[in-house]
Amino acid sequence: MLHDRDRIFTNLYGEQPWTLDAARRRGDWDATKDLIAKGRDTIIQEIKDSGLRGRGGAGFPTGLKWSFMPKQPTGPAYLVVNADESEPGTCKDREIIRHEPHKLIEGCLVAGFAMGCTAAYIYIRGEFIREAEVLDAAIKEAYDAGLIGRNAAGSGYDFDLYLHRGAGAYICGEETALIESLEGKKGQPRLKPPFPAMVGLYGRPTTVNNVETIAVAPTILRRGASWFASLGRPNNTGTKIFCISGHVNRPCTVEEEMGIPLKTLLEKHCGGVRGGWDNLLAVIPGGSSVQLIPKSICDTIRMDFDSLREVQSGLGTAGVIVMDKSTDVVKAIARLSKFYMHESCGQCTPCREGTGWLWRMVTRMAEGRAKVEEIDLLWDVTKEIEGHTICALGDAAAWPVQGLIRHFRPEIERRILEYTQHTRRAA
Ligand code: SF4
Repeated sequence: MLHDRDRIFTNLYGEQPWTLDAARRRGDWDATKDLIAKGRDTIIQEIKDSGLRGRGGAGFPTGLKWSFMPKQPTGPAYLVVNADESEPGTCKDREIIRHEPHKLIEGCLVAGFAMGCTAAYIYIRGEFIREAEVLDAAIKEAYDAGLIGRNAAGSGYDFDLYLHRGAGAYICGEETALIESLEGKKGQPRLKPPFPAMVGLYGRPTTVNNVETIAVAPTILRRGASWFASLGRPNNTGTKIFCISGHVNRPCTVEEEMGIPLKTLLEKHCGGVRGGWDNLLAVIPGGSSVQLIPKSICDTIRMDFDSLREVQSGLGTAGVIVMDKSTDVVKAIARLSKFYMHESCGQCTPCREGTGWLWRMVTRMAEGRAKVEEIDLLWDVTKEIEGHTICALGDAAAWPVQGLIRHFRPEIERRILEYTQHTRRAA
């Protein structure tokens, strides 16, 4: 469990102001010039050594991602920060922007420098109106103090930072759809390759990183890669912000050590599951785009990328959605299927047609209006969607349904049987 001395986001709950003066008192912008003086290669190597993996969901090694950017760009190159936080159950980036915006801005500067970027764009979710206001004001403070802009923080490096507001489309959280949207086009994912590190924003080399990923970078560079790597578990290092919602006594957002047992996380920070641990039915551990896990797995699972992957789920955004035994789990997954149907951009057939098909089928199953053989058909359709689409929204729609069938098949069968018996009696 995390000691207070290892906490990165010391103002996560806004006990102090977000402003530059207060941020400086917390240690932000402390000798940033010296961080930049380490040089591009050293910064990237330190991020690699820290073991930091992307906090947006995929968990790709951050230092490696940064190293994909051209060493000698012949023109503009960009850092794009994905602040389009729209994943159901997820509200961690929102808290960073509200209360620790200077960690993000300083992170943009050091990450941008490490990748040879000429500017950074923060793409913020359209619904984050107050958060955009805070970030806008914090960026202005940083410009006025000479921390960004020409000769940023006295480093000799020129670096501009722009804030761009989205318009409420979930798909714009996908990195290439986000780039399209930033360019003023309809937010639809691009086919890859080419990858953004070669052809990104305005056709230039671009890296897209999540807010939390960028915001932790300055602290890692100050405290050292080995400090960050000493937290968590091998290949799953550091701290992580978890957002816990649903049937717990005190829903919250909290920074903890990567790899903390789920049970400890819920009991230490949320007052436990409503009605006690034995009242737990299932948990979706990483935002809605991963498979749910039943109580039997929740009893022992650790909250990190590799542990959750071993049980066919994922850490995702670490948005932990807790469901107690009062939950109609089939209906809950049907509701998620409706969400993905609504948010599909419609470019590829398996996603455009399949998400609606999943929603209609799971809805029928929630009411028992199905045949038992159709459960296998439903599984097969999720497999036809998974991996056969332009972007990961297709996978994200398929996985919750797979988790439902994997862990709650008897519950679906029970409903079908009950409905069949009921209709026979009625006839
Ligand atoms: Fe659009 Fe869905 Fe295809 Fe992604 S998977 S590009 S959201 S249709």
